[in-house]
Amino acid sequence: MSHNHDDHHHERPRDLTRNQGLVLETLNGAEGPLSAYDILDKLRDEGLRAPLQVYRALDKLIEQGFAHRLESLNAFVCCAGAECHGADTAAFAICTGCGRVDEFADPEVTERLGEWAKTTGFGLERTTIELRGRCAECLKRAS
Ligand SMILES: [Zn+2]
Ligand SMILES: [Zn+2]
Repeated sequence: MSHNHDDHHHERPRDLTRNQGLVLETLNGAEGPLSAYDILDKLRDEGLRAPLQVYRALDKLIEQGFAHRLESLNAFVCCAGAECHGADTAAFAICTGCGRVDEFADPEVTERLGEWAKTTGFGLERTTIELRGRCAECLKRAS
């Protein structure tokens, strides 16, 4: 199953630590979202032993915009778009059939939410939009 993230290859930034680089590579190579424990399993041979090592690396990668946390799955994906780096809003379509996750950006949605925050005086820090349903391929297969 291919998914969106395969189209994008971020160069590993020079200021990442070894662990951060390993975690990012693992996310890049994954077919879908990974939990911190999935990541730890894949990196045991690289010498990672503690979940905390993975969580620390993930925190840093998310902070720098290289990865996202999917709240509803408690899992992580690498960022699919360079244009998203530093953006406060990330949107994901999550297929409950095959587990495919597509990251997309909609500037109008971002703008609307920003306006809402401004009007209500809400101090918006970060927005993650998660759409759950069936991807086009799964729907095709089901019909
Ligand atoms: Zn992103
Ligand atoms: Zn699907």
